[in-house]
Amino acid sequence: MIIAANWKMNPDLETAGMLASRLAGISFGNVKRVLFAPHPYIIPMSIRLAQSDITLGGQDCHTAESGAHTGDVSALMLRDSGATMVLVGHSERRSDHGEDDALIMAKANAALAHNLDVMICVGETRNDREAGNAESVVLAQLQGSIPKAMDPARLIVAYEPVWAIGTGLVPSSEDIAAMHENISSWLSSAFPNRGDTHIPVLYGGSVKPGNAAEILSLPAVDGALVGGASLDADGFEAICAAA
Ligand code: PEP
Repeated sequence: MIIAANWKMNPDLETAGMLASRLAGISFGNVKRVLFAPHPYIIPMSIRLAQSDITLGGQDCHTAESGAHTGDVSALMLRDSGATMVLVGHSERRSDHGEDDALIMAKANAALAHNLDVMICVGETRNDREAGNAESVVLAQLQGSIPKAMDPARLIVAYEPVWAIGTGLVPSSEDIAAMHENISSWLSSAFPNRGDTHIPVLYGGSVKPGNAAEILSLPAVDGALVGGASLDADGFEAICAAA
């Protein structure tokens, strides 16, 4: 099980330090915890989490290693700052910054070139689901954004229906399980030589302490990517405990 916190553009530095200290203070056996911190906090969080087993990641990276890209952050910079993972293709990047699958694949390749593990987000909009296109949209995103030549041991997929992010809405358990089975079988055919390597598929979208146990018990759900609830130490601990 992997439980990942996506702080997005939150919180302030003092609160971030308190949250990280709480996270670092407790271990949850086989539950791997990941923190995607805002870029300016990667270094202070890496110091806070140095003695812990928490994986630290960035929330995005540029495709280039360096250059004239004002405001952007490279995979090399994340790695140098203490991150070992990066989130790419989050729906807020896709919508706020017009990121498409090809760009997301290029970002994933840049991350891999600097030894970062990659969590790639996919998910359908409400219109896609209502039109009966959820599966085809998600499979097309997988096809377009995951580098086929990559080491599958470096890959995590997060299925996040866009309409469930930050809304309190969650797909039915049947729909989550069905999509995760589809994603898993797509991954099996995309990485036929992956041997014993299991590619985790996380669910994200309004995961809370009250629904975590049910979601995490579903077949082919290997963990959760948690936004809003990761900003509350008690709530995030409860989700880790449910895992
Ligand atoms: C997210 O942003 O990745 C997310 C899942 O957010 P929330 O948990 O708030 O829906």
